[in-house]
Amino acid sequence: MIMREAGRITALALQAMREAVAPGVSTKELDEIAAEVLRKHGATAAFLGYPPGSPYPFPATITASINHELVHGIPSEERILQEGDIISLDCGAIYNGYVGDAAFTMGVGTISPEAQRLLEVTEQALRIGIDKARAGNRTSDISRAVQAYVESQGFSVVREYTGHGVGRSMHEEPQVPNWWPAGRPRVRTWNSVRLVPGITFAIEPMVNAGRPETKVLEDHWTVVTRDGSLCAHFEHTVAITPDGPPIILTAL
Ligand code: MG
Ligand code: MG
Repeated sequence: MIMREAGRITALALQAMREAVAPGVSTKELDEIAAEVLRKHGATAAFLGYPPGSPYPFPATITASINHELVHGIPSEERILQEGDIISLDCGAIYNGYVGDAAFTMGVGTISPEAQRLLEVTEQALRIGIDKARAGNRTSDISRAVQAYVESQGFSVVREYTGHGVGRSMHEEPQVPNWWPAGRPRVRTWNSVRLVPGITFAIEPMVNAGRPETKVLEDHWTVVTRDGSLCAHFEHTVAITPDGPPIILTAL
């Protein structure tokens, strides 16, 4: 499949950053590492300059979000990783006109048991979401499964940001939220789309240790938890298969 290479390059960029994360490293250095991987493989950065026409286009290859920063943190040479931080790294690569999008969160050195549990629950939520990404299911099956698991662990799911279709552009239909309204609400924000073989999208649980609300900082990008609690984010781009689990395009 043609999208596999974009996904593989994205995964290579994430792997290179994972190996570089350590106390004393700046988020700008991580950005440069990812940019170099993309360059080496003939890919371009999906986030750089995004969205087109915006007065505040994103200025980097990756987003780097520390502790209570959830997503969309802007890499900076002044943001230095400290022992005990958790860092979320998200990267999108464009290759041959197709996009890969993936993210993970990891500890810097030794982290608190609560932070460790948050990472494990969020990564497990991604696995649970991926397991529901099967032909015949609907996007809401993913949403409900992710939400039920995360809340059963005492954490909350973010409402304002969702997984999304990925193909020739980074944000396509369908939206894949990490929660679903109970019952039959009169107003639906999203359609629950039937999954058919060949469709490709990103599943990306965003989990807060505290309350679910978020806000955007004055830099127009960085999303933080409103209550300052820790948060984590894991993401893969997947392709629905005729039978069984999806292909994880952003796995190595
Ligand atoms: Mg992403
Ligand atoms: Mg995404």
